[in-house]
Amino acid sequence: MSNVIAFHKKLNEHNIKLKRVSIDTLQINLGKLCNQACHHCHVEAGPTRTENMTEKTIDRIIELMAHSPELKTIDLTGGAPEMNPYFKKLVIAARSMNLEVIDRCNLTIFYEKGFEDIPQFLKDQKVHIIASMPCYSKTNVDKQRGRGVFDKSIEALKLLNSLGFGIVGSGLMLDLVYNPGGAFLPGGQEKLESDYKRELKHLFNIEFNQLYTITNMPIKRFLDDLIRQGKYNEYMELLVNNFNPHAANSVMCKSLISIGWDGQIYDCDFNQMLEIPIDSKITTLWDIKMFEEFKNKNIALADHCYGCTAGAGSSCGGALL
Ligand code: SF4
Ligand code: SF4
Repeated sequence: MSNVIAFHKKLNEHNIKLKRVSIDTLQINLGKLCNQACHHCHVEAGPTRTENMTEKTIDRIIELMAHSPELKTIDLTGGAPEMNPYFKKLVIAARSMNLEVIDRCNLTIFYEKGFEDIPQFLKDQKVHIIASMPCYSKTNVDKQRGRGVFDKSIEALKLLNSLGFGIVGSGLMLDLVYNPGGAFLPGGQEKLESDYKRELKHLFNIEFNQLYTITNMPIKRFLDDLIRQGKYNEYMELLVNNFNPHAANSVMCKSLISIGWDGQIYDCDFNQMLEIPIDSKITTLWDIKMFEEFKNKNIALADHCYGCTAGAGSSCGGALL
């Protein structure tokens, strides 16, 4: 589709070889069910999706976590991860092993019937919340995430602040995620964070810890949009022209693996969405004895990886540099 240089050739040009060096983090996708259906969603999640991780799979993850001494963090995503019926079971098990737990929370879930107790649960378990907030303007957020999402998100952030999340000294972490509202790279993370902090404090008296800027990956719904608008080649060229070898040496897949809702293992959440298997073969949680088996292994790379290496780089933890 595009005439850009293949990603692996670009790495060769810079003499970069990417292998996994550690497994600090498990990204776990608990399912595709979500109360929202955002425009840019790379999971293509939504209220009618039925894919959800089973209790058997959750139990296998817990078993393997107990045999993975290097593991520091589990990073829960979806869909809306809280909509998985075994979400709490997994969180409690991980916290009892002293692992950091990240909940990638869409904020509006707190206002869905049956999920009102989630904020207090997250506080009790000292879960690190990372919430999407693509802008501090209502128009931009509602355009990208759906009508009414902005007002609910603001209410949710106020609620989390009232519980101590995002308040310095509370030990309860609340980070926000920004991604561009179109086919352009995010601005500098530090500058944007200070703009967000100033505006959210001034307009709504909201506080948070860190802002992560994340590049839109040219896959799934965002890719469909690019193609529809005739902007695919232009966007890929933008990513390639901004290829940064320092970012390439720091990509997140060097220190994590990703688990799909059905128990299949991938190099990262993006490869999972593209169904690119880890180590060139379908591997599930029942094919391994410990997560560390994937150390020193090659990573399955393709042209969407340019999304991780453009400019300051991008990962689920924000800019890389
Ligand atoms: S809230 Fe997140 S998972 Fe749900 S549709 Fe939006 S981007 Fe996708
Ligand atoms: S898309 Fe995944 S595999 Fe590719 S560089 Fe980014 S994290 Fe690594």
